[in-house]
Amino acid sequence: MATYLASIYGTEKDKVNCSFYFKIGACRHGDRCSRKHVRPNFSQTILVPNVYHNPSHDANCTLTKQDIQEDFDNIYEDFFVELAKYGEIEEMHVCDNIGDHLVGNIYARFKFEEEAGNAVEDLNNRFYAGRPLWAELSPVTDFREGKYHQRTEGTPESRKQGA
Ligand SMILES: [Zn+2]
Repeated sequence: MATYLASIYGTEKDKVNCSFYFKIGACRHGDRCSRKHVRPNFSQTILVPNVYHNPSHDANCTLTKQDIQEDFDNIYEDFFVELAKYGEIEEMHVCDNIGDHLVGNIYARFKFEEEAGNAVEDLNNRFYAGRPLWAELSPVTDFREGKYHQRTEGTPESRKQGA
């Protein structure tokens, strides 16, 4: 029985724990969800919700695809560079879904839980683009489920050096 419960944990068969929250760290029902959103006390992954706003989702957007990509790359780099101050980042992703609960979410997985914990604590006292940031530890470790915006090829470091 224990093995069965472990095998369905966080899946759609799990009637207690929310599979959306487990897989993508967010769910459209938010706090009103009938299933549990178990916030981890320790995690390598942090979630900073609602940071990136893709200008092309605005019907009056006149920016070119390249402008939008550059804007995205700038935000990605800003965050990557800032987050790297807390520790080694193994992966970082930015959501480009239109759904409220996912829009502009940034996920970063650190090498160590302690680094992620420090980042969350510190980011909650910071602002980005004039808005206060919110950060939390997230259960997400596998980033194949969400729809993420792709940045231009190359690491932020290699492009800064003009490579
Ligand atoms: Zn939920």
